[in-house]
Amino acid sequence: MIAEDFDSKKKRALAIMNGLRKAIPDPAIELHFKNPMQLLVSTILSAQCTDKRVNMVTPALFKKYETAEDFARANVKTLEKEIHSTGFYRAKTRSIIGSAKEIVKRFGGNVPNRMEDLLTLPGVARKTANVILGNAFDTPGLVVDTHVKRISNRLGLTSQHDPVKIEFDLQEIIPEKDWTEFSLLLIKHGRKTCFARKPNCSVCTVNTLCPSREDIRTVEVGLAKATK
Ligand code: SF4
Repeated sequence: MIAEDFDSKKKRALAIMNGLRKAIPDPAIELHFKNPMQLLVSTILSAQCTDKRVNMVTPALFKKYETAEDFARANVKTLEKEIHSTGFYRAKTRSIIGSAKEIVKRFGGNVPNRMEDLLTLPGVARKTANVILGNAFDTPGLVVDTHVKRISNRLGLTSQHDPVKIEFDLQEIIPEKDWTEFSLLLIKHGRKTCFARKPNCSVCTVNTLCPSREDIRTVEVGLAKATK
């Protein structure tokens, strides 16, 4: 690809965002939650697990544990059983109870709404913190999950592989007010079209802006020849 200057990359990133908006008019988060504590628990549970599976487990969980205090007092073995089907249940139980205890002890029972405070909770790294900021507090949060990592590289918006470096690269070229939406768009795009193994470039609404697209013309010409 020809070297692209910073302003051109910014313009292309905006065009990509607008293209994805057309294909994905409602990029809302798929985890079900009613308050920041529920989103924190759901996000911890969603590691290495589908949102669908998490949404099957959380209704009963949130009925039993209504507040951070309830989670802080949870019995380890009981909670492990209750979240077992989401996988990595021991580590997730440690993170949920550990975070809840800190929230009760240091934040008056309320999930904090600042990145620096969220990062002090056990098991909470930047990805989880950005999910909470962006979706529970309406504070811009650029989530870099496996889809955002893969697609931002394919689109040539970053050449980094470390999620934190990718987040900082994207923060430079995407307006702050759009950080949450942009990451939600890429996540949905990864689930619908830009698959890890075989991206569906021929139907991708941003394929003319993507340096990694399959060469659609070559493929079409090849197919036309093959079917003559
Ligand atoms: S053109 Fe292909 S590789 Fe590029 S974003 Fe679209 S689906 Fe992904």
